[in-house]
Amino acid sequence: MNQGKQIVDILEKEKKLSLEMLRELLETEDADTREYLRERAEAVRLSVYGNAVYIRGLIEFTNYCKNDCHYCGIRRSNRHVERYRLCKEEILDCCKAGYELGFRTYVLQGGEDMYYTPERLCDIIRSIKSKYPDCAITMSVGEQPAEFYRQMYTAGADRYLLRHETADEVHYGKLHPKKMSFSNRMKCLQSLKEIGYQVGCGFMVGSPYQTVETLYQDLEFIRSFMPHMVGIGPFIPHKETPYADREAGTLEMTLCLLSIIRLMHPHVLLPATTALGTIHPLGREKGILAGANVVMPNLSPVEVREKYLLYDNKICTGDEAAECRHCMEQRMEKIGYKVVVDRGDYK
Ligand code: SAH
Repeated sequence: MNQGKQIVDILEKEKKLSLEMLRELLETEDADTREYLRERAEAVRLSVYGNAVYIRGLIEFTNYCKNDCHYCGIRRSNRHVERYRLCKEEILDCCKAGYELGFRTYVLQGGEDMYYTPERLCDIIRSIKSKYPDCAITMSVGEQPAEFYRQMYTAGADRYLLRHETADEVHYGKLHPKKMSFSNRMKCLQSLKEIGYQVGCGFMVGSPYQTVETLYQDLEFIRSFMPHMVGIGPFIPHKETPYADREAGTLEMTLCLLSIIRLMHPHVLLPATTALGTIHPLGREKGILAGANVVMPNLSPVEVREKYLLYDNKICTGDEAAECRHCMEQRMEKIGYKVVVDRGDYK
């Protein structure tokens, strides 16, 4: 058996890797090793979640943001974005459409927008929960005070997505403005967990200044933090950001990392992201076949989709929610998987 395959077997058995093993898996050009890694990850995923694919309805409810992350298209210094906010009724309309389409999780994502005070946001969460008590709510509104996280949880939010972005402090500093700190990011993730949320962390693959060493730290962080979800997708440059001229992350590297994360953490909820679908027409399908078990079709009103561009060439910005939902079902069926009507909790 070749060395690459041996590494995959060790990873599956011990659920961890050394830096040198990670380097070998990320850099190998051996097609057999890559395919073996994918096969093992898919087998593990099938043993825990079967061929079910969980769907989350993504509602991008505001693109105002007080932050200035160097990679993100809706950063505050981008003056070319037409800013928008959805009101409670518009958000509830998205939920209604989503419910009829079989969504049982709503993801409320946005920039860090001070307009949504704890009062306003908790009122929205309570309204969704009272209309759709059988649905889970995932919040993704960045770094907030622990008290605000607690209020949202009490109002009914079940899960929280806050990608750590990188577990290397120096690297973190290169991706973010001086005002933001790695220690606060980590503190936020800890509070979310303590409060009782199902928590998701994650990072972009191929972000500027990322190295095998920083990726190794990401994997070590994930192993110790034990999140319920891990969101990873390729970095894709946005033309109005300081990293406009950087290369995008690759399909191969993203798939390799999805498989590694599945093998390290057999039960984790792992999305095949829209960014992955953006760099390759079959990116999400390949992501599922590499061990992912979640997809997040867009439920945002079509009028605002072109305004929520975190990166260039984002897909599905012109499609109605129903089209996205049916398109996803067909895509999954073609590869032998089934979109299910389910909250899709961590097993
Ligand atoms: N403001 C919230 C949620 C919106 S950003 C937050 O900070 O959590 C959601 C995620 O999109 C980020 O965590 C980041 O990893 C990803 N993202 C932002 N810009 C991107 C880009 N140019 N390419 C790929 N992913 C990007």
